[in-house]
Amino acid sequence: MDAGFFRRWLTTAALAVEREADRLTDLDSAIGDADHGSNMRRGTAAVTAALDKEEPATPGAVLLLAGRTLVSTVGGAAGPLFGTLLRRTGKALGDAERVGGEELRQALATGVEAVAQLGGAAPGDKTMLDALRPAVEALPDAAAAARAAARGAEATVPLRARKGRASYLGERSEGHMDPGAASATLLFEALAEVTAD
Ligand code: ADP
Ligand code: MG
Ligand code: MG
Repeated sequence: MDAGFFRRWLTTAALAVEREADRLTDLDSAIGDADHGSNMRRGTAAVTAALDKEEPATPGAVLLLAGRTLVSTVGGAAGPLFGTLLRRTGKALGDAERVGGEELRQALATGVEAVAQLGGAAPGDKTMLDALRPAVEALPDAAAAARAAARGAEATVPLRARKGRASYLGERSEGHMDPGAASATLLFEALAEVTAD
C-alpha cells in the first residue's frame, strides 16, 4: 500500500461520510447534540481538499496531514479523537514509501491506544472505541475488519454511555447506536472497499 492507496482510502471514507451524514446526525440527535454528521462532513471534506492540494508522498504523511486537518476543522469531541487516531497511526508508519497489512495493523493499534488515552474510554463505554478496537483486531483482513467494526457499532446500541456528551443522559442513552462508532465503521468499510479494488 503506497501513498496513493492511503489517499484513496481517506477520500473514499469522506464520500461515505458525505452520503451518511444525515444518519450520523440523527444518531447524535438521539443521544447528543445533533452535530456529528455535520462535524464529520466538514472534517472529511477538508481532508480531501488538503490531500488534493498537498499530495503527500508517503502513507505516513497522508495520515499525518489528514489527522492534523481533522483536529483543526472539526469542532466537537470526534475531531481531536479521529485526528489523533490518524496522526498517531501516521507517525507509527514513519516515512516508509509502502506499508504492508501487518505494519498497518500495528500502526493502527498504536493510534487506537492513543485515542483511548486521550478520551479515557474503556471498552463498553459506548464510544467510537467499541468499533475501532475490534476492527483493528480483525486486520490485516480489511473485509473482516469492516464487519467487526459494524458488529462493534451495533453492539453499542444497548449500552449506557459512560464517556462524552451521551453519558449525561445516563440510562436514557440505552437503545441507540453511538454515532462515533458508526463513523468508525465507515472508515473501515472504506478501507475494505479500496483494498478490494
Ligand atoms: P460532540 O459530542 O462534542 O458534539 P461529536 O458529536 O462530533 O462531538 O462526536 C461524538 C462522538 O465522539 C461519540 O459518539 C463518541 O463515539 C465519541 N466520543 C466522545 N467522547 C469520547 C471519549 N471520551 N472517548 C472516545 N470517544 C468519545
Ligand atoms: Mg455531537
Ligand atoms: Mg457538538
